[in-house]
Amino acid sequence: MNTQLSDRINKLATSATLAMAAKARELRAEGKDIIGLSLGEPDFNTPDFIKDAAINAINENYNSYTPVDGYVELKNSIITKFKRDNDLSYDASQIVVSTGAKQALYNIAQVVINPGDEVILPCPYWVSYSDIIKLSGGVPVEVTTSIENDFKMTPAQLEAAITPKTKMLWYSSPCNPSGSIYSKEELRALADVLQKYPDIVVVSDEIYEHINYLGTHASMAQFDDMYNRTVTVNGVAKAFAMTGWRIGYIGAPTYIARACNKIQGQVTSGANCIAQRAVITALEAPVSNIKYMIDEFKNRRSLILNLLNDIEGFKCNEPEGAFYVFPDISHYFGKTIKGHVINNATDFSMFLLEEALVATVTGDAFGNPSCIRISYAASNEQIIEAIKRIKNAVS
Ligand code: PMP
Ligand code: GLU
Repeated sequence: MNTQLSDRINKLATSATLAMAAKARELRAEGKDIIGLSLGEPDFNTPDFIKDAAINAINENYNSYTPVDGYVELKNSIITKFKRDNDLSYDASQIVVSTGAKQALYNIAQVVINPGDEVILPCPYWVSYSDIIKLSGGVPVEVTTSIENDFKMTPAQLEAAITPKTKMLWYSSPCNPSGSIYSKEELRALADVLQKYPDIVVVSDEIYEHINYLGTHASMAQFDDMYNRTVTVNGVAKAFAMTGWRIGYIGAPTYIARACNKIQGQVTSGANCIAQRAVITALEAPVSNIKYMIDEFKNRRSLILNLLNDIEGFKCNEPEGAFYVFPDISHYFGKTIKGHVINNATDFSMFLLEEALVATVTGDAFGNPSCIRISYAASNEQIIEAIKRIKNAVS
């Protein structure tokens, strides 16, 4: 606690995913052979056709400030993408391009939440939701789900979590970290509950849309009665292997999009111009251009599940999308392994880092203290070696 700093920052948690990645980097610099399965980051290079578009943009002198909410051409390609992939119709006033989906989420929280407003978060949720909400004065209301229900929130749970203070519902589907995907019917059942509460705004984070092993993706905004109060969040980081390019976007009711534009105008002036040009090319390309990466993630999912299911005390659901497994490892709580006392998922994740030299993320960061998250956006060799080390460490 530093009294020179604001209460706001003193209360803010450090991003657990980024902290673990930094720790792994630090240990590697000390010469330790760490396998990093903590960060959700594709290990592919950005496809050449996208890189070429960025190079062309530099040579064509795209170097000025862009419109705050994004180039008109990019907004048009986002509109076309929403129609093509999601059957969602937006006009340009409803689209805002931001510095990653993360900034899009931050904008939404800042413009919708007043201090004391409650935001329902089905657990496990993506690590940054909770702190982004708290930064705006909001109160995260965690809804615990179970591995038996594939980590999905039921309509009855949603209903029970709603209070007069509920302002929003936030979730990701496919979910980071569980990989679960809400079907259209499941979303409809949640929407039916929300019918009684017309003022609740929904954030549907669909950044893993294309990393989907079921083949069908549904969006809350596809329901006419939800369209005017749902913000659809997406981005290119995951499916196009563009994490560092920092481009995300929303399709939203116009009043929310305009408010996001306003805050962004005061905070960033808009997203990077070269990255925006490259993303036009990425989004206009047929989705088949990135299928090789999705196919590879699918193979790795089978590989890692087979290996993990062979380790005592690892209970896995079968993730339907994204590139994480989220095993329940509570079997180890209360045990001492190789001198390490394991009382919770954080102890277990630190034990794996120290004894197996494998970086994972504690489930606590995602609102689920019984699990750890393992990213399989890594090579087959790394996955095989990492799980072998984990198995040796716990046996
Ligand atoms: N939402 C989810 C569910 C994520 O996993 C991530 C991870 N990057 C983000 C949003 C943020 O994406 P971006 O890198 O575009 O900021
Ligand atoms: N979304 C990724 C993850 O969950 C990237 C890290 C981050 O932005 O927190 O690991």
